[in-house]
Parts: sequence; structure tokens; C-alpha cells
Amino acid sequence: MNNVYIATLPRSGSTLLGMMLNNHPDIFHIGESSYWGKISPDDVMCSCGQIGCSFLHSINERLTNKESVDAIYEFCCCIDKIEEPDKVYHKLSLPSNKQLDLSEENLDRLLGLSCEGLGLITSVFRSVLERDIIVDNTKNIIIAEKLLGVGGWKVILLTRDPRGVYVSSKNAGIRKGVSRPVSMKIPVLLNFAQKALGIIDSERVLHVRYEDLCLNPELELSRICDFLGIIFSSSMISFKDDKGHTLMGNRMRYDDNTLISIDESWKTDLTPEEIYAITGCNDLVNFYASLGYYMKRKEWNNEIAKGFII
Ligand SMILES: [Zn+2]
Repeated sequence: MNNVYIATLPRSGSTLLGMMLNNHPDIFHIGESSYWGKISPDDVMCSCGQIGCSFLHSINERLTNKESVDAIYEFCCCIDKIEEPDKVYHKLSLPSNKQLDLSEENLDRLLGLSCEGLGLITSVFRSVLERDIIVDNTKNIIIAEKLLGVGGWKVILLTRDPRGVYVSSKNAGIRKGVSRPVSMKIPVLLNFAQKALGIIDSERVLHVRYEDLCLNPELELSRICDFLGIIFSSSMISFKDDKGHTLMGNRMRYDDNTLISIDESWKTDLTPEEIYAITGCNDLVNFYASLGYYMKRKEWNNEIAKGFII
């Protein structure tokens, strides 16, 4: 069994990583499994460009009305609701309109079922594919913790500078016409970083930084291949050659831009107040320093930061 789970926050480069991995001859990237519980592939455009992709349709036939598959979606919705109770959603975003049971007992039940669901989904894909390694991109780090306990899984822990995560979320919010205030993202970033530090030392976890992946993709992908016990293939760098079949995900799945470059738009697109909201949070700064991100004071606009402190 060669299952790999990408644990990260949304807007951290997981689509790029997934596409790179999918272009290795031994790997198939299945995207975010939470969407099977919400969306039919007959209604959306697959990463391959087809609406109603026949490959995903045949997979979906084996996943519908499976409690464990639906549980992944429900669990992710519950965690989203707990972490960002006031979030305003775009219609294609995760949340459901149905009443969510956020009790600890129900969350435990859903978490256990989610792991079963991921096992089922990967086995369905594996039964029709010739590739040994299946990579899931559901991201939720609580599921990663549980999978490490269950066994049979490796985890790629993908991190990104929190200012980069936030600016990408902010700009996506602007595009979708929904507000994404920084104050709502701080607890999400804190939770993630704390849990990341809890699993980072496991021998079945590999920490990858989005920034390193962009700066030196060959080196980072070689490191990932070592971790997965396979040989690096240069085809991974041509990550748009085979766009695979993923149900949902970042819009970059569709375009033909093959440039690998770090998105550092936080330097221009964040206000000094937004940057200070992140760099002024001591816990966040400390957690992220342990993950290799050093958010220096000199990057603040001191004048405004001072006014902000008072
Ligand atoms: Zn497809």
C-alpha cells in the first residue's frame, strides 16, 4: 500500500505539488477527496478539461452513497465551521447548508470514517490505474494526524509563509466577491502550525516548503521521490504535460502556464496592518520560525505598526 496524503493549508501550493507528482510515471494525484461528498464530476470541469469526465464518472459510480466518503466532506466542513465560524462562502467552496453536528463525539466518528473513506477512494483509483502511488490532496491536518496513527500512509507536510497563504486567500476572496479578513485567518494559521510541529518529526512525514519547491524544484522533488522510495523523473518539472483527472482545485489546473515561480505578492498586496496582524502574533511567529520561516521586524512599516500597537 503506497498512499500519500498532502497535509497543508489551502493556498499553499498544493495544486502545483499535486500536478508535479502526477507527472511522475509511478504516481497518480487524485486531488481533494472531500469534494466527492459534495459534487458530481458530471457537473464540473475535470482538470483534463472535460465537463462530465468519463474517467471520474466511472470512479464516482463506485463512491456514491458511501457513508465513509461523504464523511470526509462533512468532517472538513465541521472543522472549517469551527475554525472560521463567520466565514462567508463562495458557492463552489466546501461548506454545506445542512446543520452540522460539531460535538466532539460526532467529530471523532467522522474522523474515523474519513480515514476509511480515504482508504476506499484510493483503492478504487488503484484498481483502475497502473501506478503504484496514489496521492491525496485533502489537506486537513487533523486527518493527517489520524492517518499516521492508522498506518498505511505517508504524509507530505507542505508549508508556506503565512503572509503568502493569507494574501492568496485575500485575493481569491476579492475575485469571488467574498471578504477574507486577516483576523479570521490567524487562528487557522495557528492551529495548522501547531499541529504541523506535532507531526513533523515522524519518519512517515516529509516537510516540504512551498518556497523551496519553487526555488529549486528538482532538488525538492528528488527529496520527495527518495521519501516515497522511487527515482526522480524530470517529467515532474513539466507539470502541465499531464493534467490528470481531479474533481476540483485551484484554477491553475486549467491554464498552460508552466513557469515555476514563488508568488510573493504579499509584499505588495497586503496592507501594513494586515502584515502586522500576522507578524505581531508571537505564537504564530514562533511556530513558523520552527518551520523555517523567519518574519523579521524590518519588513514592517514601522510608522503604521507603531500606531497600530497603541
Ligand atoms: Zn478528466
